[in-house]
Amino acid sequence: MPKTIVLDKKSVNFLKKITELSGEIITLCDQCGTCSGGCPVIEDMDITPSQLMRMVLIGDQTVLQSKTMWLCATCNTCTVRCPRGLDVSKVAEALRQTTLRQSIDKVKIDEIPKEELAELPQIALVAAFRKLTS
Ligand code: SF4
Ligand code: SF4
Repeated sequence: MPKTIVLDKKSVNFLKKITELSGEIITLCDQCGTCSGGCPVIEDMDITPSQLMRMVLIGDQTVLQSKTMWLCATCNTCTVRCPRGLDVSKVAEALRQTTLRQSIDKVKIDEIPKEELAELPQIALVAAFRKLTS
């Protein structure tokens, strides 16, 4: 019989917030792992997409320290394969928004060396700033 987990208020509020922001019913996730199995960027992630879902599910806010949400490429491979119809990329986006709303930038323009800045494609820079800065 599966073990019942009782969440404290803080954890419940975190789950509610990410559910609202993502529009995904995260509690439907049954941890089958299919999303992790097909993710093209999993090798660079520190936690798998299914672990990310699990952490949100139990209201574990340390998920915000993970780099997985920043690496999700929104390719939707997991979405088309998820037996529960969940979109992990929307959950990752909700986690990014939660972090960015605390005015925490994942990329800082003044920390990019000038020579590197001059060589980077402008479209990539604009995309990065849209996704990774507050
Ligand atoms: S594929 Fe869907 S149900 Fe399975 S672990 Fe991933 S998000 Fe959860
Ligand atoms: S949408 Fe994100 S988590 Fe899902 S397979 Fe693509 S990169 Fe991985």
